[in-house]
Amino acid sequence: MESIPCAGCSIFFIPRNKCQTFCSKPGCQRVRKTLWQRQKLATDPEYEEGQHLAQNKWLQNNPDYWKDYRSGHPEQADRNRSLQKIRNMKNRQDQTVCKLSKTIGIAKMDARKHREYNLSGEYWLVPTVAKMDAVKIFITSVPVDST
Ligand SMILES: [Zn+2]
Repeated sequence: MESIPCAGCSIFFIPRNKCQTFCSKPGCQRVRKTLWQRQKLATDPEYEEGQHLAQNKWLQNNPDYWKDYRSGHPEQADRNRSLQKIRNMKNRQDQTVCKLSKTIGIAKMDARKHREYNLSGEYWLVPTVAKMDAVKIFITSVPVDST
């Protein structure tokens, strides 16, 4: 059979059959399985239910897992906390906009007034298109020089 580029690493390999698109390297097989599972979860409610049951059972048998993880990975725990705050804020904002638009019949209300919020603080810059790590930044307001 003719060699083809692997869908994971792009290195040419000889597939065992016409359906094989990933080479046998562990990293590429992991990517293949992740994609398969993501697709399966999106299309098979029984599989999704089974995965939730298995995860809950595993968590019951390993109750300290997340506590240990957070104490062993403080940077990731901090990042996850920040990302959850962003998700919570977005959900709250969506609910507020939804309530407002139901009350006064406006579909879109995302205009923001200047200086209404103090934006100083630590933030995570989270890329939404390319897959890359989030970057922690610090934003502080600079007073306008009136002289
Ligand atoms: Zn590969």
